[in-house]
Formats: sequence, C-alpha cells, structure tokens
Amino acid sequence: MVVEKRLRLGGITILVIMLLTTIVPFQMMSWLRSTQEEITKVQESSHTLENLLSLMKDVETGQRGFIITGKEAFLEPYYAAQSQIADAKAELSALSRNSGQQLQAHERIRKLVDLRVEEATNNIELRRADGFAAAEPAVTRATGKAYMDELRQLIGQELEFNQQHIQLLVKELGQRNRIATNTELIVTLVNFVLLSLVFIFMFRLLRERQATATQLQKTGEERALGMTALEHRNQEISTISQMAQALDSTQSVKETFEVIALYCAKLLPQTSGTLYLFRNSRDLLEMEAQWGTSTCSRQTIEPAQCWGLRRGQPHHTSNTQDLCCAHYDISADAKRHFCIPLSARGEVLGLMYIESPPSTQEEADRLEMLAIAVSEQISLAVANARLREVLRQQSIIDPLTGLYNRRYLDETLKRELARAVRHNKPIALIELDIDHFKKVNDTYGHDAGDLVLSLVSSELKAGIRESDLACRFGGEELVVILPECNREAALERAEKLRQAISRLDILHNGQHIGNVTASFGVAAYPEHGSEPEHLFRCADQALYSAKRNGRNRVEVAG
Ligand code: GH3
Ligand code: MG
Ligand code: MG
Repeated sequence: MVVEKRLRLGGITILVIMLLTTIVPFQMMSWLRSTQEEITKVQESSHTLENLLSLMKDVETGQRGFIITGKEAFLEPYYAAQSQIADAKAELSALSRNSGQQLQAHERIRKLVDLRVEEATNNIELRRADGFAAAEPAVTRATGKAYMDELRQLIGQELEFNQQHIQLLVKELGQRNRIATNTELIVTLVNFVLLSLVFIFMFRLLRERQATATQLQKTGEERALGMTALEHRNQEISTISQMAQALDSTQSVKETFEVIALYCAKLLPQTSGTLYLFRNSRDLLEMEAQWGTSTCSRQTIEPAQCWGLRRGQPHHTSNTQDLCCAHYDISADAKRHFCIPLSARGEVLGLMYIESPPSTQEEADRLEMLAIAVSEQISLAVANARLREVLRQQSIIDPLTGLYNRRYLDETLKRELARAVRHNKPIALIELDIDHFKKVNDTYGHDAGDLVLSLVSSELKAGIRESDLACRFGGEELVVILPECNREAALERAEKLRQAISRLDILHNGQHIGNVTASFGVAAYPEHGSEPEHLFRCADQALYSAKRNGRNRVEVAG
C-alpha cells in the first residue's frame, strides 16, 4: 500500500517535471516575443511617420516647381507622393496605439496631411488655370508652410516619443531576457532536484524490493529447512516409538540388547557407541551392546573412569581441553564423545557412550538431545527386561536348588519330546532320589537336609551338557532331561552323576554328613514311549527298582 502511494507520488512528480519543462520555456518565449513585437511595431510606426513626412516633402517640392515654372514635369513628385499618401495614412492608423495622446497626435497628422495636400492641389489648379500671378498670393500667404511646420513638429515629437519608447522596450526586453534565463535555470534546477529525488526514491524502492525479495526467499528457505527438520524429527519420534514397541516385546535381556544396537544405529547414524551395564557387584560396567565402528570401546570400564557416571548427568567432550573420561582415547580428530548415564526407577543401570564425527555446536546439541531421549527409552527397556527376566526366573527356577521347577519340567519335556519325535532323534530322562534323606533331616536337622539337596543339585548341574535340563521334581527327587541322548549314553551319564554325588563330602556346622548317595532310574525315547507320562512311568519304575535293589545305583527301565 505504502509502495503504491510512493509510486503514485513518483509518477505525479515526473508529470510535473514534464509540464514544467514544456510550459515554462514556451511561456518565457511568448513573453519575450510580445516585447519584441512591440518594439517592431514602434519601429514601423516611426518608419511610417518618416515616410509620410518624406511624401509631404515631395508634394511640396512638386507644387513649388510647378508654380514657379508652370511645367507639368515638375508635378511628378507630387503625383507620386499623392498616390502613396493614402496607404501611408492607413498604415499609420493601423499602427496607432490606443493611448489617447498618440491617437490625437496621429489624427492631427492625418488632418494636416489632408490640409496640406488640399492646399497644394488648389495652388496647382490656380497656377494651371490663371497663371503664376494668380497663384503667387496663395503661396505668399504661407498657409501651406504653416501646415508643414506643424506636421514636422508633430512627426518630430512622435519620432522622439517612439525613440524613447523603443529604448524602454529594449530595456524591458533585456530584463525579461534575464528573468527568462533565471527562470529556466531555476526550472532546470528544480527539474534536476525532482529528478534526483525520483531517482533516489526509485533506487530505494528497488533496493527495498530487492531486500523484500531476498527476505522472502530466505523465509521460504528457512521454512523449507524447518519442514525438513520437522519431518526428520517426526521420523525420529516414529523410530523411537518403534524401538519402544520392539523393546517391549523382547523375550530376553540378550534380545533387548540386540534391539537396542539395531535401533541406535538407525536413530544415531554417523555415530558409533556402546552400552555398558553395571555388573551385580557394581564395581565394573560390562559392554552389552554396540553399534557403528567405535575406535575405543572397551569390554569393561570402571565407574570412576566416567565423568558422566561420577556427576550423574550427561557429559560431553570434543577436545583435549575438556574434562575427558579415562574410558576412551581423546584424539586430535575433534570427535565428540557423549557419556549418558542410564537410570530407571531411581537406580543407575549403566552408561550409553557415543562417539560422533566433528560437528557444529548446534548439531552436537541436537544429537545430545536425541541421544538423551533414546537413552531414556533404553533405560526403561533394560530395567523392564531385567525385571521380566527375574520374574521369569522366579517362575521357573526352584529357589533352594537353583534347578528348574516341576512346571517348567513338564513344559520342557513335552516340547523336547515332541521335537525328538518330529526329528526322529533320541531323548532320555534320568530320575534320581536321594537315599535315606529323611535320615539326614532327622540326624543333622532340616538345614543340613537343605544343604545336601542344594549341593547334590549343583553336582547335577555341573555334570550335564548345556543343552540338558536339570529340574526338581519335588522333595528330594530330581530329574534330568537329555535331548538327543540315547539310552546307553543316558545310563553312562547317570552313572557318572551317581559317582559324583557319592563322592560328596558335606560339612555342616562342623559336622561331616557322610555317605550321601542317590538312586537313578533311566528311560528313553524311542524305547520307552513317545509321551511324557510313558517316560516318567518307566523312569519311576527303574528308580523304584534301583531302590529295591540296594540304592546308590542306576537302573534302566525294562
Ligand atoms: P528313600 O531312600 O527310600 O528315598 O528314603 P527317604 O528317607 O529319602 O525317603 P522319604 O521319601 O521317606 O523321605 C523324604 C524326605 O525328604 C521327607 C521330607 O521331610 C524330606 N524333604 C522333602 N523336601 C525337603 C526339603 O526341601 N528339605 C529338607 N531338608 N527335607 C526335605
Ligand atoms: Mg523321595
Ligand atoms: Mg529318598
């Protein structure tokens, strides 16, 4: 709106300049011309008067010559003058100005001309008709001379007046010329100033337009950048949300760490990092997950080596002048190092360590913010995963013996047996019962019984493969499932276990609990059936048989 107003003003100014440039010189010229015309008119008037006087002299000369000589030839100037006098009088009338005094003078001149011509004509006629003597008295009366003298005087006055008038007009012309020159100078100056103003205004307008255009372009670019940043942020939020969902669905702590490594690589590209968690003893942190290609990721670190852990808040370094942690090597490559403590439910769980390439402060701040958001999700997920693991362990592990409980045994045997049948592989079941356990309880007390049970279980765990499964069936009765193990191998394994148990030397409250033994019953698929109940029944029968046959022995189902 303001720009339009200014443009209109600029347009009007240019119009004014054009008008001034056209009108002022024209006006000045016509003004000067009028004075010039006036001068010409006065000059013509003088000329006409002189001409009239000269004609009158011719009239007088012709008349005088004819009267003296009586020869017609002397009348030539008279006739010539007479023929021009009428025109000269008309010219004089046309040139007469309207001022009363001059009009009167001119009137009188014309009158005197007429009188003198009439006098001359009468004298000529008289001479021609009656001779010199008749004309002589008329000439002597000198009426004609009186007319001529007055005429001369009047014309002389008029010429004098005209001369003065011309001088005045010339003076005026000079003044007008000066005024015209000055006016043109002023107009030129005004034009120059106005044009300069218009030029300055246009220049400013163009500059403002340019600035506005640049600003608009900048705003557009900033908006586009903002949109890109927003899209980027949305993408990050969506990925964090996906990570949270995935972490919520993990089935083990190990799987949780795999998911963390995968999503950290996605969410924090260009970076590498390591996730450390406190050991149960809390004296060391161990590497649990890693992404990228970190140059200085150690397997274990001490809590005192990290300023982030010591200060209990995110710590960030980018050069050797910063407060650097001892668990990474700070080099001259200006990499940034972020240490973010992981904590959940009031407990510090560990540390997220990130290395990123050199970047601006703004990028580093953004990365730190994102890393903190990610670390919060990770902390929560790790705490949850651990809790789930504990609950799961509690639900399947017998607390006294550390062996799997009956419920887990039932589930596992069913699953493993089905798999063995499907893959046509053998599977064995060893059932054992501690001999005369009641006596142990009765002799050494229930605590001693618990200790025996616990140590026998440890012996059992130590004596089987990773893939085998030791469970507490109930009381002092234990079971081992041996996938992909046939009857003979199971017998052999049971025998070794029996021997190991019988070698146990248990000390409780300074007393040796000697002669701890167990009896073993073995059953296997495919020999003893393809259902858990069949195997259990057979193993049970074999155990019973072992008891009956003297205990501390291994029997296989028939
Ligand atoms: P056998 O050689 O025939 O197996 O004799 P036994 O004494 O071991 O047999 P019995 O089944 O009669 O006794 C089992 C005893 O184990 C009874 C019970 O008090 C004891 N017992 C069961 N569970 C526990 C336990 O968790 N701790 C302790 N200390 N004793 C237990
Ligand atoms: Mg028993
Ligand atoms: Mg027993």
